[in-house]
Amino acid sequence: MASTPTTLFILGASGDLTSRLLLPSLAALLARQPQRRIALRGAGTEDWDAAKWQQIVATAFADSADALDRVTVGDYVAADVTDRGAVAQLVSSLGPGTVLYFALPPAVTHAAIDAMQGLELPADILLAMEKPFGDDEQSARELNEKLTALVAEQQVFRVDHFLGRSTLLNLLGVRLANRIWEPVWAAEHVESVCIRFDETLALEGRARYYDKAGAMIDMIQSHLLQVLALVAMDPPATLGERDLRDAKAAVLRATRVRGGDPVASSKRARYTAGTVGDRTLPAYADEEGVDAARGTETLAEVTFEVSNDRWEGVPFILRSGKALEAKRSEVTVTFKQVRHLPLGLAGEPVDGGRLRFSLGPDRMALRLHVTGGDDPFALRDEDLLADLGEGQRRSYEEVLDELLDGEVALSVRADEAEDCWRIIQPVREAWAKGEVPLDEYAAGSAGPEAWPEV
Ligand code: NDP
Repeated sequence: MASTPTTLFILGASGDLTSRLLLPSLAALLARQPQRRIALRGAGTEDWDAAKWQQIVATAFADSADALDRVTVGDYVAADVTDRGAVAQLVSSLGPGTVLYFALPPAVTHAAIDAMQGLELPADILLAMEKPFGDDEQSARELNEKLTALVAEQQVFRVDHFLGRSTLLNLLGVRLANRIWEPVWAAEHVESVCIRFDETLALEGRARYYDKAGAMIDMIQSHLLQVLALVAMDPPATLGERDLRDAKAAVLRATRVRGGDPVASSKRARYTAGTVGDRTLPAYADEEGVDAARGTETLAEVTFEVSNDRWEGVPFILRSGKALEAKRSEVTVTFKQVRHLPLGLAGEPVDGGRLRFSLGPDRMALRLHVTGGDDPFALRDEDLLADLGEGQRRSYEEVLDELLDGEVALSVRADEAEDCWRIIQPVREAWAKGEVPLDEYAAGSAGPEAWPEV
Protein backbone atom coordinates (compact mmCIF):
# COMPACT_ATOMS: atom_id res chain seq x y z
CA MET A 1 0.00 0.00 0.00
CA ALA A 2 1.22 3.49 -0.76
CA SER A 3 1.91 5.72 2.25
CA THR A 4 -0.92 8.09 3.11
CA PRO A 5 -1.02 10.86 0.54
CA THR A 6 -1.71 14.38 1.66
CA THR A 7 -1.51 16.40 -1.55
CA LEU A 8 -4.37 16.26 -4.03
CA PHE A 9 -3.23 17.62 -7.38
CA ILE A 10 -6.13 17.98 -9.82
CA LEU A 11 -5.35 18.11 -13.52
CA GLY A 12 -8.41 19.74 -15.07
CA ALA A 13 -9.06 21.95 -12.05
CA SER A 14 -11.26 24.30 -14.07
CA GLY A 15 -13.55 21.54 -15.31
CA ASP A 16 -17.08 20.46 -14.47
CA LEU A 17 -16.10 17.33 -12.53
CA THR A 18 -13.81 19.35 -10.27
CA SER A 19 -16.26 22.13 -9.47
CA ARG A 20 -19.43 20.05 -9.29
CA LEU A 21 -18.21 16.86 -7.64
CA LEU A 22 -14.58 16.72 -6.54
CA LEU A 23 -14.27 19.95 -4.56
CA PRO A 24 -17.71 19.81 -2.87
CA SER A 25 -17.09 16.15 -1.96
CA LEU A 26 -13.69 17.04 -0.56
CA ALA A 27 -15.37 19.75 1.51
CA ALA A 28 -17.93 17.28 2.85
CA LEU A 29 -15.21 14.72 3.61
CA LEU A 30 -13.10 17.22 5.51
CA ALA A 31 -16.16 18.43 7.40
CA ARG A 32 -16.68 14.85 8.62
CA GLN A 33 -13.01 14.17 9.28
CA PRO A 34 -11.61 17.12 11.25
CA GLN A 35 -8.28 15.35 11.71
CA ARG A 36 -7.53 15.22 7.99
CA ARG A 37 -5.30 17.84 6.38
CA ILE A 38 -4.97 18.27 2.62
CA ALA A 39 -2.82 20.35 0.36
CA LEU A 40 -4.65 21.12 -2.86
CA ARG A 41 -2.98 21.93 -6.14
CA GLY A 42 -4.51 22.38 -9.57
CA ALA A 43 -3.68 22.62 -13.24
CA GLY A 44 -5.63 23.52 -16.33
CA THR A 45 -5.44 25.52 -19.47
CA GLU A 46 -7.36 28.47 -17.97
CA ASP A 47 -5.03 31.34 -17.23
CA TRP A 48 -6.00 31.55 -13.56
CA ASP A 49 -3.83 33.15 -10.89
CA ALA A 50 -3.49 31.96 -7.29
CA ALA A 51 -6.26 34.31 -6.10
CA LYS A 52 -8.74 32.90 -8.63
CA TRP A 53 -7.90 29.32 -7.64
CA GLN A 54 -8.34 30.23 -3.94
CA GLN A 55 -11.70 31.73 -4.78
CA ILE A 56 -12.83 28.64 -6.74
CA VAL A 57 -11.95 26.41 -3.81
CA ALA A 58 -13.60 28.73 -1.29
CA THR A 59 -16.81 28.75 -3.36
CA ALA A 60 -16.88 24.96 -3.46
CA PHE A 61 -16.39 24.89 0.31
CA ALA A 62 -19.12 27.48 0.95
CA ASP A 63 -21.31 24.97 2.81
CA SER A 64 -18.43 23.67 4.95
CA ALA A 65 -16.51 26.80 5.87
CA ASP A 66 -14.73 25.07 8.79
CA ALA A 67 -13.39 22.45 6.42
CA LEU A 68 -11.58 25.12 4.46
CA ASP A 69 -9.22 25.56 7.43
CA ARG A 70 -8.06 21.98 6.85
CA VAL A 71 -6.96 22.69 3.29
CA THR A 72 -3.78 24.37 2.25
CA VAL A 73 -4.68 25.80 -1.11
CA GLY A 74 -1.46 25.54 -3.06
CA ASP A 75 -0.60 26.71 -6.54
CA TYR A 76 -2.59 26.59 -9.74
CA VAL A 77 -0.45 25.76 -12.76
CA ALA A 78 -1.65 27.05 -16.11
CA ALA A 79 -0.29 24.36 -18.40
CA ASP A 80 -1.15 22.19 -21.34
CA VAL A 81 -0.75 18.76 -19.80
CA THR A 82 -0.27 17.14 -23.18
CA ASP A 83 2.92 19.13 -23.73
CA ARG A 84 6.03 17.13 -22.82
CA GLY A 85 7.96 20.15 -21.51
CA ALA A 86 5.05 21.41 -19.39
CA VAL A 87 4.44 17.91 -18.04
CA ALA A 88 8.12 17.41 -17.17
CA GLN A 89 8.07 20.65 -15.21
CA LEU A 90 4.87 19.70 -13.49
CA VAL A 91 6.17 16.24 -12.57
CA SER A 92 9.39 17.68 -11.17
CA SER A 93 7.27 19.76 -8.78
CA LEU A 94 5.50 16.73 -7.29
CA GLY A 95 6.39 15.83 -3.74
CA PRO A 96 5.88 12.61 -1.79
CA GLY A 97 2.35 11.72 -0.81
CA THR A 98 0.66 13.06 -3.93
CA VAL A 99 -2.57 11.91 -5.52
CA LEU A 100 -2.56 13.06 -9.13
CA TYR A 101 -6.17 13.23 -10.31
CA PHE A 102 -6.78 13.20 -14.07
CA ALA A 103 -10.06 15.19 -14.21
CA LEU A 104 -9.53 15.70 -17.93
CA PRO A 105 -11.32 14.74 -21.13
CA PRO A 106 -10.31 11.12 -21.94
CA ALA A 107 -8.21 12.02 -25.00
CA VAL A 108 -6.32 14.61 -22.97
CA THR A 109 -5.70 12.06 -20.21
CA HIS A 110 -4.22 9.65 -22.77
CA ALA A 111 -1.99 12.37 -24.18
CA ALA A 112 -0.88 13.41 -20.67
CA ILE A 113 0.03 9.79 -19.83
CA ASP A 114 1.99 9.64 -23.09
CA ALA A 115 3.79 12.85 -22.18
CA MET A 116 4.74 11.36 -18.79
CA GLN A 117 6.44 8.26 -20.22
CA GLY A 118 10.05 8.06 -19.10
CA LEU A 119 9.66 10.71 -16.40
CA GLU A 120 10.36 9.82 -12.81
CA LEU A 121 7.29 10.11 -10.63
CA PRO A 122 7.44 10.17 -6.80
CA ALA A 123 7.73 6.57 -5.57
CA ASP A 124 4.46 6.67 -3.63
CA ILE A 125 2.33 8.61 -6.11
CA LEU A 126 -1.25 7.52 -6.73
CA LEU A 127 -2.79 8.16 -10.16
CA ALA A 128 -6.57 8.63 -10.20
CA MET A 129 -8.09 7.89 -13.60
CA GLU A 130 -11.63 8.90 -14.53
CA LYS A 131 -14.05 7.01 -16.70
CA PRO A 132 -14.31 6.24 -19.53
CA PHE A 133 -11.14 4.19 -19.25
CA GLY A 134 -10.34 3.60 -22.91
CA ASP A 135 -13.04 3.13 -25.48
CA ASP A 136 -12.69 -0.57 -26.15
CA GLU A 137 -10.74 -3.54 -24.82
CA GLN A 138 -7.66 -2.81 -26.92
CA SER A 139 -7.42 0.86 -25.99
CA ALA A 140 -7.98 0.06 -22.31
CA ARG A 141 -5.14 -2.49 -22.53
CA GLU A 142 -2.83 0.04 -24.16
CA LEU A 143 -3.63 2.61 -21.51
CA ASN A 144 -3.00 0.03 -18.80
CA GLU A 145 0.38 -0.77 -20.31
CA LYS A 146 1.33 2.89 -20.33
CA LEU A 147 0.24 3.27 -16.73
CA THR A 148 2.19 0.25 -15.56
CA ALA A 149 5.26 1.65 -17.30
CA LEU A 150 4.90 4.59 -14.89
CA VAL A 151 3.77 3.06 -11.59
CA ALA A 152 2.71 -0.22 -9.98
CA GLU A 153 -0.89 -1.37 -10.47
CA GLN A 154 -1.63 -0.69 -6.76
CA GLN A 155 -0.85 2.96 -7.46
CA VAL A 156 -3.58 3.35 -10.05
CA PHE A 157 -7.09 4.22 -8.89
CA ARG A 158 -9.55 3.77 -11.74
CA VAL A 159 -12.55 5.63 -10.44
CA ASP A 160 -15.97 4.04 -10.64
CA HIS A 161 -17.93 6.21 -8.29
CA PHE A 162 -20.68 3.59 -8.09
CA LEU A 163 -18.31 1.51 -6.01
CA GLY A 164 -18.39 4.34 -3.49
CA ARG A 165 -22.14 4.23 -3.16
CA SER A 166 -23.11 3.33 0.35
CA THR A 167 -25.88 1.03 -0.87
CA LEU A 168 -23.41 -1.22 -2.59
CA LEU A 169 -21.32 -1.41 0.52
CA ASN A 170 -24.51 -2.12 2.48
CA LEU A 171 -25.32 -4.87 0.03
CA LEU A 172 -21.98 -6.47 0.78
CA GLY A 173 -22.64 -6.31 4.51
CA VAL A 174 -26.09 -7.82 4.24
CA ARG A 175 -24.93 -10.49 1.86
CA LEU A 176 -21.77 -11.55 3.60
CA ALA A 177 -22.65 -11.25 7.29
CA ASN A 178 -25.88 -13.25 7.31
CA ARG A 179 -25.90 -16.99 7.19
CA ILE A 180 -29.29 -17.11 5.49
CA TRP A 181 -28.12 -15.89 2.09
CA GLU A 182 -25.04 -17.84 1.18
CA PRO A 183 -26.77 -21.24 0.75
CA VAL A 184 -29.34 -19.75 -1.61
CA TRP A 185 -27.05 -17.30 -3.44
CA ALA A 186 -26.62 -19.52 -6.48
CA ALA A 187 -28.29 -20.79 -9.65
CA GLU A 188 -30.05 -23.58 -7.79
CA HIS A 189 -32.22 -21.02 -6.01
CA VAL A 190 -31.97 -17.76 -7.93
CA GLU A 191 -34.26 -17.20 -10.90
CA SER A 192 -32.79 -13.91 -12.08
CA VAL A 193 -30.86 -10.84 -11.02
CA CYS A 194 -31.86 -7.42 -12.28
CA ILE A 195 -29.63 -4.38 -11.88
CA ARG A 196 -31.49 -1.29 -12.87
CA PHE A 197 -30.66 2.38 -13.01
CA ASP A 198 -33.56 4.41 -14.40
CA GLU A 199 -33.15 8.16 -14.36
CA THR A 200 -35.72 10.91 -14.74
CA LEU A 201 -32.92 13.22 -15.86
CA ALA A 202 -32.57 13.62 -19.59
CA LEU A 203 -29.55 14.77 -21.57
CA GLU A 204 -29.05 17.91 -19.45
CA GLY A 205 -26.70 19.54 -21.95
CA ARG A 206 -24.21 16.67 -22.01
CA ALA A 207 -24.55 15.88 -25.73
CA ARG A 208 -20.84 16.25 -26.40
CA TYR A 209 -20.07 13.24 -24.23
CA TYR A 210 -23.33 11.32 -24.13
CA ASP A 211 -24.18 11.28 -27.83
CA LYS A 212 -20.99 9.33 -28.49
CA ALA A 213 -21.41 7.05 -25.48
CA GLY A 214 -25.11 6.22 -25.07
CA ALA A 215 -26.74 4.39 -22.18
CA MET A 216 -24.88 1.10 -22.59
CA ILE A 217 -21.38 2.57 -22.46
CA ASP A 218 -22.28 5.32 -20.01
CA MET A 219 -23.80 2.99 -17.43
CA ILE A 220 -23.78 -0.73 -18.22
CA GLN A 221 -20.19 -1.09 -19.44
CA SER A 222 -18.82 0.48 -16.29
CA HIS A 223 -21.02 0.99 -13.25
CA LEU A 224 -23.60 -1.75 -13.63
CA LEU A 225 -21.09 -4.48 -14.52
CA GLN A 226 -19.21 -3.51 -11.38
CA VAL A 227 -22.43 -3.94 -9.41
CA LEU A 228 -22.94 -7.33 -11.07
CA ALA A 229 -19.45 -8.34 -9.98
CA LEU A 230 -20.17 -7.40 -6.35
CA VAL A 231 -23.49 -9.26 -6.35
CA ALA A 232 -22.16 -12.40 -8.01
CA MET A 233 -18.68 -12.76 -6.52
CA ASP A 234 -17.66 -15.50 -4.16
CA PRO A 235 -17.28 -14.16 -0.62
CA PRO A 236 -13.73 -12.81 -0.44
CA ALA A 237 -11.44 -13.60 2.51
CA THR A 238 -11.03 -9.89 3.24
CA LEU A 239 -12.25 -6.63 1.77
CA GLY A 240 -8.65 -5.71 1.05
CA GLU A 241 -7.85 -4.66 -2.49
CA ARG A 242 -6.41 -7.97 -3.61
CA ASP A 243 -9.08 -10.29 -2.25
CA LEU A 244 -11.99 -8.06 -3.20
CA ARG A 245 -10.73 -7.32 -6.68
CA ASP A 246 -9.70 -10.94 -7.32
CA ALA A 247 -13.25 -11.99 -6.46
CA LYS A 248 -14.81 -9.36 -8.72
CA ALA A 249 -12.40 -10.01 -11.56
CA ALA A 250 -13.17 -13.75 -11.47
CA VAL A 251 -16.86 -12.96 -12.00
CA LEU A 252 -16.18 -10.54 -14.83
CA ARG A 253 -13.96 -13.09 -16.56
CA ALA A 254 -16.88 -15.53 -16.49
CA THR A 255 -19.42 -12.98 -17.72
CA ARG A 256 -20.67 -12.78 -21.27
CA VAL A 257 -23.75 -11.80 -23.21
CA ARG A 258 -26.42 -14.41 -22.52
CA GLY A 259 -26.30 -17.35 -24.87
CA GLY A 260 -23.54 -15.59 -26.80
CA ASP A 261 -26.45 -13.97 -28.67
CA PRO A 262 -26.34 -10.15 -28.57
CA VAL A 263 -29.41 -9.83 -30.77
CA ALA A 264 -31.67 -11.88 -28.53
CA SER A 265 -30.08 -10.53 -25.35
CA SER A 266 -30.11 -6.79 -25.87
CA LYS A 267 -32.60 -3.98 -26.41
CA ARG A 268 -32.11 -0.31 -27.11
CA ALA A 269 -34.38 2.69 -27.37
CA ARG A 270 -34.33 6.46 -27.34
CA TYR A 271 -36.83 8.92 -26.00
CA THR A 272 -39.23 11.00 -28.02
CA ALA A 273 -40.79 14.24 -26.77
CA GLY A 274 -42.72 13.98 -23.54
CA THR A 275 -43.15 15.19 -20.00
CA VAL A 276 -41.16 14.10 -16.99
CA GLY A 277 -42.78 15.44 -13.83
CA ASP A 278 -43.41 19.08 -14.65
CA ARG A 279 -40.70 19.30 -17.31
CA THR A 280 -41.53 19.12 -20.98
CA LEU A 281 -38.70 17.54 -22.92
CA PRO A 282 -37.94 17.58 -26.62
CA ALA A 283 -37.16 14.30 -28.35
CA TYR A 284 -33.57 13.19 -27.75
CA ALA A 285 -32.94 13.48 -31.49
CA ASP A 286 -33.89 17.18 -31.30
CA GLU A 287 -31.71 18.00 -28.27
CA GLU A 288 -28.96 20.52 -28.88
CA GLY A 289 -25.70 18.94 -29.97
CA VAL A 290 -27.24 15.55 -30.81
CA ASP A 291 -26.52 13.95 -34.17
CA ALA A 292 -29.75 12.01 -34.66
CA ALA A 293 -28.20 9.91 -37.42
CA ARG A 294 -25.81 8.42 -34.90
CA GLY A 295 -28.74 6.49 -33.42
CA THR A 296 -27.54 6.80 -29.85
CA GLU A 297 -29.69 4.91 -27.37
CA THR A 298 -30.93 6.59 -24.20
CA LEU A 299 -32.22 3.32 -22.74
CA ALA A 300 -30.34 0.04 -22.90
CA GLU A 301 -31.07 -3.39 -21.53
CA VAL A 302 -28.61 -6.25 -21.86
CA THR A 303 -28.90 -9.72 -20.37
CA PHE A 304 -25.66 -11.39 -19.34
CA GLU A 305 -24.74 -14.75 -17.90
CA VAL A 306 -22.00 -15.64 -15.49
CA SER A 307 -20.67 -18.94 -16.72
CA ASN A 308 -19.40 -20.54 -13.56
CA ASP A 309 -20.54 -23.20 -11.16
CA ARG A 310 -22.46 -20.79 -8.96
CA TRP A 311 -24.41 -18.92 -11.63
CA GLU A 312 -24.70 -21.01 -14.80
CA GLY A 313 -28.09 -20.35 -16.42
CA VAL A 314 -29.13 -17.34 -14.34
CA PRO A 315 -29.95 -14.24 -16.38
CA PHE A 316 -28.38 -11.02 -15.11
CA ILE A 317 -30.47 -8.22 -16.62
CA LEU A 318 -28.75 -4.84 -16.65
CA ARG A 319 -30.81 -1.84 -17.64
CA SER A 320 -30.28 1.88 -17.59
CA GLY A 321 -31.97 4.81 -19.23
CA LYS A 322 -32.77 8.49 -19.16
CA ALA A 323 -35.96 10.58 -19.15
CA LEU A 324 -37.98 7.76 -17.62
CA GLU A 325 -41.11 8.05 -15.55
CA ALA A 326 -39.48 7.41 -12.20
CA LYS A 327 -36.02 7.20 -10.68
CA ARG A 328 -35.32 3.58 -9.88
CA SER A 329 -31.89 2.44 -8.91
CA GLU A 330 -32.02 -1.03 -7.53
CA VAL A 331 -30.65 -4.52 -7.46
CA THR A 332 -33.29 -7.24 -7.39
CA VAL A 333 -32.58 -10.89 -6.74
CA THR A 334 -35.61 -13.01 -7.57
CA PHE A 335 -35.70 -16.50 -6.13
CA LYS A 336 -37.07 -19.55 -7.91
CA GLN A 337 -40.50 -20.83 -7.09
CA VAL A 338 -40.57 -23.50 -4.45
CA ARG A 339 -40.46 -27.01 -5.88
CA HIS A 340 -43.82 -27.88 -4.40
CA LEU A 341 -46.60 -25.72 -3.04
CA PRO A 342 -48.84 -27.79 -0.75
CA LEU A 343 -52.32 -28.30 -2.08
CA GLY A 344 -54.68 -26.28 0.05
CA LEU A 345 -52.75 -23.05 -0.13
CA ALA A 346 -54.61 -20.55 -2.29
CA GLY A 347 -52.65 -18.33 -4.65
CA GLU A 348 -49.86 -18.93 -7.09
CA PRO A 349 -46.74 -16.96 -6.31
CA VAL A 350 -44.82 -16.12 -9.46
CA ASP A 351 -41.52 -16.57 -7.69
CA GLY A 352 -40.01 -17.87 -4.49
CA GLY A 353 -39.53 -14.46 -2.92
CA ARG A 354 -37.50 -11.44 -3.88
CA LEU A 355 -34.77 -9.38 -2.30
CA ARG A 356 -34.44 -5.80 -3.47
CA PHE A 357 -31.88 -3.14 -2.62
CA SER A 358 -32.78 0.39 -3.62
CA LEU A 359 -30.46 3.36 -3.63
CA GLY A 360 -31.07 6.80 -2.18
CA PRO A 361 -32.66 6.56 0.28
CA ASP A 362 -31.03 3.20 0.77
CA ARG A 363 -33.54 0.47 1.48
CA MET A 364 -33.71 -3.26 1.50
CA ALA A 365 -37.01 -5.03 0.88
CA LEU A 366 -37.50 -8.74 1.18
CA ARG A 367 -40.74 -9.72 -0.51
CA LEU A 368 -42.21 -12.84 0.99
CA HIS A 369 -45.36 -14.76 0.19
CA VAL A 370 -47.27 -14.99 3.44
CA THR A 371 -50.55 -16.18 4.78
CA GLY A 372 -52.32 -14.62 7.71
CA GLY A 373 -54.96 -12.37 6.20
CA ASP A 374 -58.68 -12.97 6.49
CA ASP A 375 -58.15 -16.38 4.96
CA PRO A 376 -55.27 -18.18 6.68
CA PHE A 377 -54.75 -20.38 3.63
CA ALA A 378 -54.59 -17.56 1.09
CA LEU A 379 -51.16 -16.37 0.04
CA ARG A 380 -50.41 -12.70 -0.41
CA ASP A 381 -47.22 -10.67 -0.77
CA GLU A 382 -45.68 -8.74 2.08
CA ASP A 383 -42.46 -6.71 2.11
CA LEU A 384 -40.08 -6.79 5.04
CA LEU A 385 -38.48 -3.38 4.85
CA ALA A 386 -35.19 -2.21 6.30
CA ASP A 387 -33.94 1.33 6.11
CA LEU A 388 -30.24 1.43 5.46
CA GLY A 389 -29.94 5.18 5.83
CA GLU A 390 -30.16 8.13 3.56
CA GLY A 391 -27.14 7.10 1.54
CA GLN A 392 -26.12 10.70 1.68
CA ARG A 393 -22.46 10.13 1.77
CA ARG A 394 -21.56 11.32 -1.67
CA SER A 395 -20.00 8.64 -3.79
CA TYR A 396 -17.12 10.95 -4.67
CA GLU A 397 -16.61 11.50 -0.96
CA GLU A 398 -16.03 7.78 -0.57
CA VAL A 399 -13.74 7.81 -3.61
CA LEU A 400 -11.66 10.65 -2.14
CA ASP A 401 -11.61 9.06 1.30
CA GLU A 402 -10.06 5.93 -0.17
CA LEU A 403 -7.73 7.79 -2.48
CA LEU A 404 -6.38 10.10 0.20
CA ASP A 405 -5.75 7.04 2.38
CA GLY A 406 -3.84 5.41 -0.47
CA GLU A 407 -6.38 2.57 -0.65
CA VAL A 408 -7.43 1.14 -4.01
CA ALA A 409 -9.88 -1.61 -2.98
CA LEU A 410 -12.88 0.33 -4.28
CA SER A 411 -11.30 1.08 -7.61
CA VAL A 412 -11.36 -0.89 -10.83
CA ARG A 413 -8.29 -3.06 -11.48
CA ALA A 414 -6.61 -3.11 -14.89
CA ASP A 415 -7.98 -6.53 -15.88
CA GLU A 416 -11.51 -5.60 -14.80
CA ALA A 417 -11.40 -2.43 -16.91
CA GLU A 418 -10.43 -4.45 -19.99
CA ASP A 419 -12.97 -7.20 -19.31
CA CYS A 420 -15.87 -4.77 -19.01
CA TRP A 421 -15.18 -3.64 -22.59
CA ARG A 422 -14.76 -7.24 -23.78
CA ILE A 423 -18.13 -8.20 -22.25
CA ILE A 424 -20.20 -5.60 -24.14
CA GLN A 425 -18.31 -5.78 -27.45
CA PRO A 426 -20.68 -8.29 -29.17
CA VAL A 427 -23.62 -6.00 -28.38
CA ARG A 428 -21.80 -2.98 -29.75
CA GLU A 429 -21.11 -4.87 -32.96
CA ALA A 430 -24.69 -6.09 -33.34
CA TRP A 431 -26.03 -2.58 -32.74
CA ALA A 432 -23.56 -1.04 -35.19
CA LYS A 433 -24.77 -3.48 -37.85
CA GLY A 434 -28.40 -2.52 -37.13
CA GLU A 435 -29.27 -6.05 -36.00
CA VAL A 436 -31.17 -4.74 -32.97
CA PRO A 437 -33.89 -2.15 -33.64
CA LEU A 438 -33.68 1.27 -32.00
CA ASP A 439 -37.08 1.41 -30.29
CA GLU A 440 -38.74 4.55 -29.00
CA TYR A 441 -40.39 5.60 -25.76
CA ALA A 442 -42.00 8.86 -24.78
CA ALA A 443 -40.00 10.87 -22.27
CA GLY A 444 -41.69 10.38 -18.92
CA SER A 445 -42.93 6.87 -19.73
CA ALA A 446 -41.67 3.60 -18.25
CA GLY A 447 -39.92 2.70 -21.52
CA PRO A 448 -41.11 1.16 -24.79
CA GLU A 449 -44.52 -0.38 -24.32
CA ALA A 450 -43.51 -3.60 -26.02
CA TRP A 451 -40.64 -4.28 -23.62
CA PRO A 452 -41.56 -6.76 -20.92
CA GLU A 453 -41.38 -5.44 -17.38
CA VAL A 454 -38.14 -6.47 -15.63
P1 NDP B 1 -14.55 19.33 -18.69
O1 NDP B 1 -14.45 19.45 -20.15
O2 NDP B 1 -15.60 20.13 -17.97
O3 NDP B 1 -13.18 19.71 -17.98
C1 NDP B 1 -11.98 19.25 -18.44
C2 NDP B 1 -10.83 20.00 -17.77
O4 NDP B 1 -9.65 19.60 -18.46
C3 NDP B 1 -10.91 21.50 -17.85
O5 NDP B 1 -10.44 22.00 -16.62
C4 NDP B 1 -9.94 21.83 -18.97
O6 NDP B 1 -9.32 23.06 -18.78
C5 NDP B 1 -8.92 20.76 -18.76
N1 NDP B 1 -8.11 20.57 -19.96
C6 NDP B 1 -8.53 20.25 -21.21
N2 NDP B 1 -7.47 20.11 -22.04
C7 NDP B 1 -6.38 20.35 -21.28
C8 NDP B 1 -4.99 20.37 -21.54
N3 NDP B 1 -4.51 20.07 -22.74
N4 NDP B 1 -4.15 20.67 -20.52
C9 NDP B 1 -4.62 20.95 -19.28
N5 NDP B 1 -5.93 20.93 -18.98
C10 NDP B 1 -6.78 20.65 -19.96
O7 NDP B 1 -14.72 17.79 -18.37
P2 NDP B 1 -15.36 17.13 -17.07
O8 NDP B 1 -14.85 17.82 -15.87
O9 NDP B 1 -16.83 17.00 -17.24
O10 NDP B 1 -14.81 15.64 -17.15
C11 NDP B 1 -13.50 15.27 -16.79
C12 NDP B 1 -13.42 13.76 -16.71
O11 NDP B 1 -14.29 13.30 -15.68
C13 NDP B 1 -13.87 13.03 -17.97
O12 NDP B 1 -13.09 11.87 -18.13
C14 NDP B 1 -15.30 12.65 -17.67
O13 NDP B 1 -15.72 11.52 -18.40
C15 NDP B 1 -15.20 12.34 -16.18
N6 NDP B 1 -16.47 12.45 -15.47
C16 NDP B 1 -17.14 13.62 -15.47
C17 NDP B 1 -18.34 13.73 -14.77
C18 NDP B 1 -19.10 15.00 -14.73
O14 NDP B 1 -20.19 14.99 -14.17
N7 NDP B 1 -18.59 16.09 -15.27
C19 NDP B 1 -18.90 12.58 -14.04
C20 NDP B 1 -18.07 11.41 -14.08
C21 NDP B 1 -16.91 11.36 -14.77
P3 NDP B 1 -9.82 24.34 -19.54
O15 NDP B 1 -11.25 24.48 -19.25
O16 NDP B 1 -8.96 25.37 -18.93
O17 NDP B 1 -9.53 24.04 -20.98
